[in-house]
Amino acid sequence: DTYLPSLSRYEGTPYRRVGRSGLLLPPISLGLWQNFGEDCDPQSLRAIVRRAFDLGITHFDLANNYGPPPGSAEAHVGRILEQDFRHLRDQLVISTKAGHRMGPGPYGDGGSRKYLLTSLDQSLHRLGLGHVDIFYHHREDPDTPLEETMGALDQAVRSGKALYAGISNYSPERTVQAAEILADLGTPLLIHQPSYSMFNRHVEHGLLGVADDLGLGLAVFSPLQQGLLTNKYASGVPTGSRASNTGGSLTARQVHDATYQERMRGLSDIAHERGQSLAQLALAWTLRHPAVATALVGASTVRQLEQNVLTVENLGFTAEELVRIDEFAID
Ligand code: NDP
Repeated sequence: DTYLPSLSRYEGTPYRRVGRSGLLLPPISLGLWQNFGEDCDPQSLRAIVRRAFDLGITHFDLANNYGPPPGSAEAHVGRILEQDFRHLRDQLVISTKAGHRMGPGPYGDGGSRKYLLTSLDQSLHRLGLGHVDIFYHHREDPDTPLEETMGALDQAVRSGKALYAGISNYSPERTVQAAEILADLGTPLLIHQPSYSMFNRHVEHGLLGVADDLGLGLAVFSPLQQGLLTNKYASGVPTGSRASNTGGSLTARQVHDATYQERMRGLSDIAHERGQSLAQLALAWTLRHPAVATALVGASTVRQLEQNVLTVENLGFTAEELVRIDEFAID
């Protein structure tokens, strides 16, 4: 079962520059936070990753703790890379992170040099790679001096174990400080990874401006609000969906919320007029800012991925459309 990637994979994808860097990313990237844990069918994961690459998705977003259990998403991807992508490594951008609880004890969480650099080694081991392309600090750690955390990212890049440095979930103020420290060390801050969707607009009140000022790119996560901004919950909670997963990150209560339902209907009407699905509208909308280099999208099926990639067929918005969207795109 040899994988022969599509020869037309680079046609039709409008790759976007990450801030003022040399790196280009696809508008839609595949995020492996969910649906890539130990219990998932390896063949279906392999099909999703292969199809993604065939569709021009060069960027795969991971973290040390993705699973469950933590580490299993990287291990799955490591096997897929070994099976199918050995000769394609240099055409891929693989991102990982450390910053959430990964292991027991005092060195399995936070922002210390000890945790970040040892976690990166463990990620490389699971992935079977000599380097990742982007290494992120996953969230702020107020108890560790920012100089130490940024020093660890700088070291990761200098050692060649990561090509670029990133941060995630940092406030605009801490982002400015982090970028200054990294610039002084000689390793530019490439990218910031915040959440952003039509129902979660915090980046518009600070981070987007900071990204423009600093020449940073943004990789936005949960642009579909974990599936809420698709039509999948229009008439209940399908079995196997994220909201059907008790104790999951998206609750059935959120899905049934009457205010969300009404907004989803309003946005679906606008999407329909544009000849798009609600998911495609939601993704295009996050990409309307040039600072947003890529939207990190999760997928449980090949079909979801294929539909989401078609977003690039209509990325433009009229001023009037944006005003109408604002009526329903509320936090
Ligand atoms: P999304 O908002 O894109 O939600 C993805 C989910 O939406 C899918 O799992 C699927 O749900 C559903 N979906 C996707 N496409 C369709 C479609 N066309 N039709 C119907 N349903 C669809 O993003 P995620 O919350 O998954 O996050 C994306 C990535 O962002 C993560 O994988 C991770 O890489 C990154 N991330 C980073 C964080 C950080 O702290 N830095 C935090 C969270 C995410 P279902 O599974 O129910 O089918």
